[in-house]
Amino acid sequence: MRWFWSRVVALSLILFAFLTGPVAAALPVYVTFWFDTEDFILPEADDAAMRLAEMFAARNVQATFKIVGEKARVLEERGRDDVIAALAKNDIAYHSTYHSVHPTPSEYCRDLTWQEGVSEFTRREGAGLRTLRKVFGVNASCYGQPGGSWTPQSYAALRAFDIPLYLDETSHVNVDNRPFWYCGVLNILRLGDAVIRTGWTDQEVRQACEKFDRVHKKLLDEGGGIISIYYHPCEFVHTQFWDGVNFARGANPPRSQWKRPPMKSPQEQKQAFDAFEAFLDHIIRHAQTRLVTAREIPSLYPDRVYSRPLTRRDVQMIAEAFRKELSYVDLDGKIASAGEGLLALAQTVAKADDDSGTGEVTLEFVYGPASAPQRFVTEGTYSSAAIQEASQELLDIVQQTGQMPSVIWVAGEPVRPEDFAVTLANVVASGGLSGNVALRRGELAARKYVADDSPGLWGWVVFPEGFRAPHMMEVAKLQAWTIKPPVLRKLD
Ligand SMILES: [Zn+2]
Repeated sequence: MRWFWSRVVALSLILFAFLTGPVAAALPVYVTFWFDTEDFILPEADDAAMRLAEMFAARNVQATFKIVGEKARVLEERGRDDVIAALAKNDIAYHSTYHSVHPTPSEYCRDLTWQEGVSEFTRREGAGLRTLRKVFGVNASCYGQPGGSWTPQSYAALRAFDIPLYLDETSHVNVDNRPFWYCGVLNILRLGDAVIRTGWTDQEVRQACEKFDRVHKKLLDEGGGIISIYYHPCEFVHTQFWDGVNFARGANPPRSQWKRPPMKSPQEQKQAFDAFEAFLDHIIRHAQTRLVTAREIPSLYPDRVYSRPLTRRDVQMIAEAFRKELSYVDLDGKIASAGEGLLALAQTVAKADDDSGTGEVTLEFVYGPASAPQRFVTEGTYSSAAIQEASQELLDIVQQTGQMPSVIWVAGEPVRPEDFAVTLANVVASGGLSGNVALRRGELAARKYVADDSPGLWGWVVFPEGFRAPHMMEVAKLQAWTIKPPVLRKLD
């Protein structure tokens, strides 16, 4: 009988290897469900949030509930400990203090400087975050803006709030419909076909499930990825959004005049919950699928560019890349933003006289400039010493402020960071400093990932008629220095 058992063992080992091998090698497709939990007017929306929260808990999985500060406050005021407890079984995230009460973030940041906007966002949205933390006893795992009310300044505030992820769906910044880093915050902001929702009819559920299968396969072919699925608990019970009813086109009635939105019939509500449940179960049952919350997402995308020094070869790659295009640079799986690339070049040039060094440089996160210079030179020839001094001064400023300066002074003349970056790239790519250095012109190609101001960008019904924010989108483009795609972690 020994031969029999040894065969059983051998066959089991082969079966085990077959079952675990391919799964361990391939990255799964991650799916994140999130609910913008915002309607603080309609009490029935509280029950809708609880029902959805319980739906996930009953399946031993979690969704992310991005909760408005005022919503958290009224849940407590209404004595809805049951709703709070159900939500707390899931991941708790943040969705602004008052959502659609004017002024919303884009409205109040519209004409502010970078620093003013950071302060004002911190002041206004910090209030609701404190409420959320008090009610739920945890920090928010992520933030996403109310409606289309996006601002670049929110990012620096989020870093101070210790919120590492921006999770939403809007077109203000878009890197090829996939996740990206912006201002040192991981973004799931525009995923194109990887955003999937179902309507409430059987046919719509079938179509959404088919789309899920299709996109799932496409992401597997890409080597893994993430699908974003979002709803609002209130849309399961209402026929019109609470804020469309009260705050559309700049309207700002006092609290005493807030109206309840019209509701779905009990039958329509049941149909909505049933449709969503069928969609959820289809996804949970799908092979090579893993549900993740906003709290888990940052650990899927570790940024390895800071953990080990860049080699001389890495810096050469940055220099070569910058001569073609001033944008992020992929260094064999570590990715440097344009700003980080500039710092790597500046370190190399500043240390050019130090022959004993290894040529290695270390990077840390740096914000793009707060403003663009009005006056700058566009041509000139400078001594090696002047270029070296300017490089060191750039590094000193970044060390002190954590932010790129708006101009770099070279021999007393103001040079744009774009031009300085391409000039340094040319120096490093052509073998280092020798003799005089001619100033090169550069443009920050990564600006293309940040939307131009346009009427379509501000289509949210809550904005005042004709709302535009050209200055704010220029401030946003200055932070394109920080843009780069994240690298999905291989499974251990
Ligand atoms: Zn919302």
